[in-house]
Amino acid sequence: MKLLISADMEGISGIVAWEQTTPGQIEYARGRRLMMGDVNAAVNGAFEGGADEVVVSDAHGDARNLLLEELDPRARLNSGSPSPFSMLQSLDDTPAPNALLLLGYHALSGTRKGVLDHTWSDERIRAVFLNDQLVGEIGLNAALAGAYGVPVVALTGDQHTCAEGQDLLGPALEIAVVKSATGRYAAQCLPLPEARERICEAAARGLLRLREGRAPAPLVVSLPVRLAVEFVFTQHVDRAFLLPGAERPGGTRLEYTAPDMLTAHRAFRAMVALARD
Ligand SMILES: [Zn+2]
Repeated sequence: MKLLISADMEGISGIVAWEQTTPGQIEYARGRRLMMGDVNAAVNGAFEGGADEVVVSDAHGDARNLLLEELDPRARLNSGSPSPFSMLQSLDDTPAPNALLLLGYHALSGTRKGVLDHTWSDERIRAVFLNDQLVGEIGLNAALAGAYGVPVVALTGDQHTCAEGQDLLGPALEIAVVKSATGRYAAQCLPLPEARERICEAAARGLLRLREGRAPAPLVVSLPVRLAVEFVFTQHVDRAFLLPGAERPGGTRLEYTAPDMLTAHRAFRAMVALARD
């Protein structure tokens, strides 16, 4: 059984500020160490839960946060950006992953009191919809994985992140709440041993559920996929609208009809890449 772990940073144990997740900032080195601890807890839980292969995709920023030299040597690491599947690099590997774990994720943009809430880009994107359903990074990635028949079996982050995941994927989604958000830049953080124990258990239970047929079903969106993106600034939309096939029904809104989820995902990433000042 092969598990893909997509590791973001904002929902990592102890993280509450951009300075802890941004290269060059004074607290970034500490943020990386915290991220390594959560990732290794998930890898350990995966093997305890019956995985025989684990791939970790660094899924934050330029995807060069995780330190291979400190990663559990049983796991392989996808590092660097851009990669074809971004936060889910290895989704189309052979053999394909059987399950996906979203680690250190965060709530979608606009969530009340979610640690570092945003959807893909804090400065550029206000909201994303797939077939009129509001989604954040959990939904976007779950839908892409679903198109490949891969279910999300576990999720870690703050309490709002985990609630967002269970609202979307159902109560069978195993969760590890590692901090209780009290604001965008504030949370009550669990002691690290307790947080990592929760992560380890969520990973193991998620794979156990998969083996027993009790895991969430892959998230399959109906086709064609109607993608809608609400931007923050109109000058970004002026550029993102260069994407062939994009429609602009409003000043800050682009829409795009895609024949499949991979195309929708690529169209979204292209819009974000184009959306510059
Ligand atoms: Zn991130």
